[in-house]
Amino acid sequence: MVNRLSTLYALQIIDDQLDELEELRGDLPLRVNSLNAKVKEIQDQIDKRDGERKSSMEQRKINEEEIERLKINLKKFKAQLYQVRNNKEYDALTKEIDHSESEIKRLENDNMEMELKSEKLKLEIGDYTPKVEELHELLKENEVELKKIIKENEIEEVKLKDKREQIAAKVRKQDYNVYMRIRKALHGKAIVTIVRSACSGCHNVVPPQRQIEVRQNRRIFTCESCGRILVSHEISEQAEKLL
Ligand SMILES: [Zn+2]
Repeated sequence: MVNRLSTLYALQIIDDQLDELEELRGDLPLRVNSLNAKVKEIQDQIDKRDGERKSSMEQRKINEEEIERLKINLKKFKAQLYQVRNNKEYDALTKEIDHSESEIKRLENDNMEMELKSEKLKLEIGDYTPKVEELHELLKENEVELKKIIKENEIEEVKLKDKREQIAAKVRKQDYNVYMRIRKALHGKAIVTIVRSACSGCHNVVPPQRQIEVRQNRRIFTCESCGRILVSHEISEQAEKLL
């Protein structure tokens, strides 16, 4: 039992050290994530408008070609007006001319509207661009800072993770699950010693009878107040030797 408890406590010691490394990063990982999301959000808005502008430009080009074609036809129809032989032909030609003229007008109007819309989109992109650049700059700074911190502790972290793996392999699966569950629920410490008759996790007094039982290292006891696993000093000393 001493072994079982001290292995578990050794795991806690390593996790404490890993937590410390994690704390050095502060809120940088969160900041990087949120900046990334913001940059993406604005970039999406820019891309959306860019896409609209491009398809509007393509449509305008198609319209212009159609206008050109209609104008050539119009010229042809007008020339033919001088050669008509009867009213029927004349009516048919004027009908074609009217139709071509109104088509040209419609397409020109469409293009004008699309051009205005395009200008508006361009202005909006212009508004978004400095924002996204500013955020991107900030994101880069934060990423550099985070990478620096990670790099500084890389060797230590790898070493700790290696050791953690070795120790974790020795912990009983069932104990490991309990440990991880408490650790997750209480954000860090899952197994603690009794210091001056109190649980060092929550600082509530541990009843004298329970203190004696904990000192006997015969079973896993948890703190009645916080639910953390309580161990004796003997266990913590043994654990240190395992590291
Ligand atoms: Zn407690």
